[in-house]
Amino acid sequence: MPAHFDLLIRNGTAILPWGEATAAIGVRHGRIATLQAGASDTAEQMIDASHLHVLPGLIDPHVHLRDPGNAAVESIPTGTKAAVLGGLTAVFDMPNTSPAITDPASLAWKQAYVPGHSYCDFGIYIGATKTNAGELGQMETADGVCAIKLFAGSTTGDLLVEHDAGIERVMRAGRRRIAFHSEDEYRLQDRRPMFSTGMPYATHMEWRDAECAALGTRRILSLAHKTGRPAHIVHVSTAEEFAYLAAHKDIATCEVLLNHLTQIGPECYERLGGYAVMNPPIRDRRHYDAAWAAVADGTVDNIGSDHAPHSRAAKEKPWPETAAGLTGVQTLVPIMLDHVNAGRLSLSRMADLMSAAPARIFGAVNKGRIATGYDADFTLVDMKRRRTIENDWIVTPAGWTPFAGMQVTGWPQATIIRGNIVMQDDTILTPPIGNIIRFR
Ligand SMILES: [Zn+2]
Repeated sequence: MPAHFDLLIRNGTAILPWGEATAAIGVRHGRIATLQAGASDTAEQMIDASHLHVLPGLIDPHVHLRDPGNAAVESIPTGTKAAVLGGLTAVFDMPNTSPAITDPASLAWKQAYVPGHSYCDFGIYIGATKTNAGELGQMETADGVCAIKLFAGSTTGDLLVEHDAGIERVMRAGRRRIAFHSEDEYRLQDRRPMFSTGMPYATHMEWRDAECAALGTRRILSLAHKTGRPAHIVHVSTAEEFAYLAAHKDIATCEVLLNHLTQIGPECYERLGGYAVMNPPIRDRRHYDAAWAAVADGTVDNIGSDHAPHSRAAKEKPWPETAAGLTGVQTLVPIMLDHVNAGRLSLSRMADLMSAAPARIFGAVNKGRIATGYDADFTLVDMKRRRTIENDWIVTPAGWTPFAGMQVTGWPQATIIRGNIVMQDDTILTPPIGNIIRFR
């Protein structure tokens, strides 16, 4: 007797954890019910995915949606709309908002705000401060919390714990993985007087040099070993850090950003001006090549966008007043697909980096793989579609992308979250049905 499903995805090439296969995926009650639906099975909704690849729902575990903060630049509704248009089924949002998410009251606000305002599923970071270590152990296990975030080097906002004693106190306050922005604050401040306002934007990579990043990462990892607390180093940007992290997989996971895999200094600063400035900086070809080598050899666990919008006025200020941070949540998947088509990685490795890895690192329940019983989260992609990324496609209110004018091959055709077709053919089809994710 034929089975009946809520949704059936037929004829697609699915990227399963154990390899590529043509699958007939049946979805019931938001979960994957089968990968082998029968020819006569029926469904409320049917997708013919001939000529498409079906990826496990892709996750951007590093975004700054500025909410609460400045809705003229970005917000949870607009940033998650950008995410689903770009093929993402979930984002994990950083805490350096205004006010910051650092205490039970601000966390409770965000937990309540996400349902009804987010178009995709959602993880929440808690910010570590110099004074909240006592509350972090409780807060890190609250609903929707993916991890603690600790800024050891200063960037947007005022969350900073730069000294070893403060970092160690945070590490001893809980047991789950902590995400670190590891640039060394002391070296950053020491070097600042060497440069003056109005110098070329490429000065950014001289000021925040490779040693700033490498020194900070070595400090964090030695504290991680000392305390036994696992660390996740976000936006690793130097050859030296990749080599060091490869020798410390027992205690640390790490992320590389799309920008560090796509742009190369100093050329990008000459072309983009302030629209190339981010922390840690886009660096020269030696570090770019090291990042791709670390993707190829498995040193890198995951890829994120570090989507961090600012107004055009803030980006166009002279260096170093230009605001550091670039938009990226909407362009992450198309540009990664272009990298796949260029032969830099396989589609299976991309699914590992962008779905399985964030689920594994942060312990997202029922996310990260196409398998029976898991959430029915899928990113359907057309590997042959060619398209040019333009500013007018970007729905983040800030309204710009550093990749405007870039032609890519490979494009997300549909975003499916717990069986809901949220985006298809560039159109958003549902209200904001996103919910906070459960983390173990
Ligand atoms: Zn960031």
